[in-house]
Amino acid sequence: MDVLAAPPPALADAALLGAARAVAEAAAAGAAALDHPGAFPAREVAALGTQGLLAAPLPAALGGAGLGEGAAGHRLLAEVLMAIGAGSLALGRLYEGHVNALQLVLRHGDAAQRREAAAAAAGGALFGVWNTDDRAAPLRLEQGVLQGAKILASGAGHVARPLVTAATPAGSVMLLPRLAPGQGADLSGWTAQGMQASATGRVDFTGLAAPSPIGAPGDYLREPDFSTGAWRCLAVQAGGMAALLALLRQHLLDSGRDEDRAQRQRFGEAAIAAQTARLWVLRSAESVAMTADVEGAVAAVNLARRAVEQAALALLELVQRSIGLAAFLRPAPVERIARDLATYLRQPAPDLALERGAATLLRQGQLPW
Ligand SMILES: Cc1cc2nc3c(=O)[nH]c(=O)nc-3n(C[C@H](O)[C@H](O)[C@H](O)COP(=O)(O)OP(=O)(O)OC[C@H]3O[C@@H](n4cnc5c(N)ncnc54)[C@H](O)[C@@H]3O)c2cc1C
Repeated sequence: MDVLAAPPPALADAALLGAARAVAEAAAAGAAALDHPGAFPAREVAALGTQGLLAAPLPAALGGAGLGEGAAGHRLLAEVLMAIGAGSLALGRLYEGHVNALQLVLRHGDAAQRREAAAAAAGGALFGVWNTDDRAAPLRLEQGVLQGAKILASGAGHVARPLVTAATPAGSVMLLPRLAPGQGADLSGWTAQGMQASATGRVDFTGLAAPSPIGAPGDYLREPDFSTGAWRCLAVQAGGMAALLALLRQHLLDSGRDEDRAQRQRFGEAAIAAQTARLWVLRSAESVAMTADVEGAVAAVNLARRAVEQAALALLELVQRSIGLAAFLRPAPVERIARDLATYLRQPAPDLALERGAATLLRQGQLPW
């Protein structure tokens, strides 16, 4: 049961959100069984397909629901990502990557590339965005052939259509190759304490013929999309936070410790932390869609990253102090979700994000939200 407020009834597509919640509920029920190295939520991803969520980010003209289009679409996408993240942070991570890849193809691809990607998504293919290079063998495009590997690639061995960045003499380009199940994937390095079911690993592309690039060199890093897209990751994290808050509430009620003053105070603080994340996410999602202030939008999402990270770290401490040792005992869902959240909170260059966000605010004196 959600502790935080449900979305208002004016929300455009309650059916899509209902579908996301149904998949999330099933994902939550199956998450303990997938909490081991090399796991991947195949059934849950298939459910995202049958529920129309894999195709939903496509525009109506390409058979989708326009999820993520405009301010209302952004708000709905935020609710969908929070719902899925509440069910499973690993599934939320995978779905976020899928949405990100489709948005990049829709924005930068030509008509044929957009049509082809839309058909693949509608057919149940999972997409992802793999940007992190293997330092020893960064991905590059040489005479039409790929050389090198990506690391920290979620859905490795399962994502059929990864959007990858590859170095060329003209700059970094986006490519959308086709991969067979397991192709090039190595999950042995994914020994993280959490997010085990995200199948995050290394993928070697060496020798693969490259398809034609999506967009122009440098498009992947084009602002504001590159930096502001982090709000979607925050939405998934906020979903996991809501799940932890609900588990804390249940624990306090079930254990009869809900009348204790210290426990009530901690629960209040935990609710504030979870709601803080939710509000930053919703505000960021809507504002990103509406503002023309590129620098301000980037700064605001950079600050949102810190706000959510701080709130999540505070929530983790509050939950663990309130529940005590039981919060560390497997297979308690709270133990797994805390591990998944702590792992997923580690995102690139958090110090730089805060510093840059602050620098813009100091210069401009105002943020767009
Ligand atoms: C579950 C999960 C799934 C992922 N899936 C994908 C995926 O599908 N595709 C993909 O491309 N990537 C993926 N990633 C990788 C992700 O995009 C980041 O690369 C990764 O999370 C970075 O984390 P980090 O803590 O190593 O970051 P870092 O940036 O190394 O930060 C660690 C610390 O070092 C500081 N720091 C950073 N740079 C410097 C510097 N130059 N000098 C001094 N200090 C510095 C930071 O502020 C921070 O305090 C995934 C990550 C996770 C956790």
